[in-house]
Amino acid sequence: MVKGIVYLVGAGPGDPKLITVRGLEALKRSDVIVFDRLAGPQLLNHARPDAERIYVGKLPDRHTMKQEDINQLLVDLALQGKTVIRLKGGDPTVFGRVGEEADLLQKNGILYEIIPGITSAIAVPAYAGIPVTHRDMASSFSVITGHESPDKLDHSIYWDKVTNATGTLVFLMGVAKIGYISEQLIKHGRSVDTPVALVQWGTRAEQRTVVGTLGDIDEKVKAANLKPPAVIVVGDVVRQRETLSWIEKKPLFGQRILVTRARSQASELLAKIDDLGGETYEFPVIETKWPTSSEAVQAIERALGQADDYDWVMLTSVNGVEFFFGWLDRCGIDIRRFHRAKFAAVGPMTAEALASRGIRADLLPESFRAESLLESLDGLIVPGQLALLPRGDLARETLPKELKEREVRTVEIDVYETCLAAPRDLWLPEMIAGGEIHVITFTSSSTVINLLEALRQLGLKEPAEALRGVEIACIGPVTAKTAEENGLQVTIIPEKYTIEGLVDALVERRRVTKGD
Ligand code: SAH
Repeated sequence: MVKGIVYLVGAGPGDPKLITVRGLEALKRSDVIVFDRLAGPQLLNHARPDAERIYVGKLPDRHTMKQEDINQLLVDLALQGKTVIRLKGGDPTVFGRVGEEADLLQKNGILYEIIPGITSAIAVPAYAGIPVTHRDMASSFSVITGHESPDKLDHSIYWDKVTNATGTLVFLMGVAKIGYISEQLIKHGRSVDTPVALVQWGTRAEQRTVVGTLGDIDEKVKAANLKPPAVIVVGDVVRQRETLSWIEKKPLFGQRILVTRARSQASELLAKIDDLGGETYEFPVIETKWPTSSEAVQAIERALGQADDYDWVMLTSVNGVEFFFGWLDRCGIDIRRFHRAKFAAVGPMTAEALASRGIRADLLPESFRAESLLESLDGLIVPGQLALLPRGDLARETLPKELKEREVRTVEIDVYETCLAAPRDLWLPEMIAGGEIHVITFTSSSTVINLLEALRQLGLKEPAEALRGVEIACIGPVTAKTAEENGLQVTIIPEKYTIEGLVDALVERRRVTKGD
């Protein structure tokens, strides 16, 4: 059998966007992903849906898999002919034990690549506003292990040399030993006033920084109850933080915000949260798919077959637009056959989706509910006209009902179906319990229903109960009503029922709860 290949890839320090392009390509193409917790679960969203995911980190009932067992696992998988990615936090060559993994692969004649990552040693200080070198402050830096055992530390670190060798010293794995480290540095000639920073969970929503001097940092770390993982930076460069700290100044910094929208529709919301310094957590609970029942398909074919007869085509969502054009293609129908029809689009995104297909909506209701479409139809629509309504299977009944009351003949077709996306991210219940999800965004009633169902499928018996401490943000009153009916306490509803409005409301709520 053909042997597989193993990519030993640095996943970066935590922010899932800090993986390299090459690492991401390897991830997208792999059959098996071997990962642990420092290589964030969100990265797995890029994996093929059918890829096997093997977690080798700590679990409540199990210790981390032994390094030798991981080495062997990689060999075994590759011998089965698989393309394997081993994702590691930061850079795989910096205290990442990649040498041992590569060694066994090499001995077994298995192809491998070592794909570097952004090490926490530089990225975590950077996210705290501390560049590790500076023209006037430090012309060099060292990356040093601050390993837990003082015996080992004594053994492997030549304090007399290390202390003054470079302007900046960066210690990884050193939180528990910060007192000992400071002592050694002072003993070997660094001033007690030397600035020190510890940055915990850098590049993630939990990022927290404690600054002090070699003289008082031990005390300060204890007072702040700062725990691993953290990067320790020693040297004058730490002072730059006073002016250069950046991500902490963004309005949504510190918030991990769950986005439940279907992946195909989530990009605008994700990008806006990201720009504002929030950490997005994608957990799509809706998938759209082509209807398959023969009745549904026949109804669509019949409706599109009389394209020449319509006075109106009314689209109510981006999905509606996309699937409508998808069906035209499938049925071999040219859009110009709708030569008599005017187009109506509910909401600016729907209008944009339509415009990207070369059609400018004739009618764009001011507000974004189906009701307001009707108001704007007054005077434009004439009894006896024929309207086509391509929608999803969950569309609301208001529009067709009102149209009928105005004696408009309507043809409704369900051009797509929605279903619960299979929950693949097994971390979520644990993250919710640990208070690691700060806000959940709902952009439709079905996202509410489906998230609760997904959480039940992941083993949470009372999902609404579990979400007590989480801010619940709904795009508008209809969604909020569904959330309340299902036991959630809605804390955020925007004035304008758009993604933009929702994001503004998130920022406002954060401002209020932070008390500035
Ligand atoms: N290969 C990794 C380091 C592995 S050792 C890299 O290149 O980053 C693990 C140590 O890295 C932790 O104890 C901590 O000191 C540091 N670390 C990794 N990710 C971190 C993060 N997001 N924030 C703070 N420290 C981090």
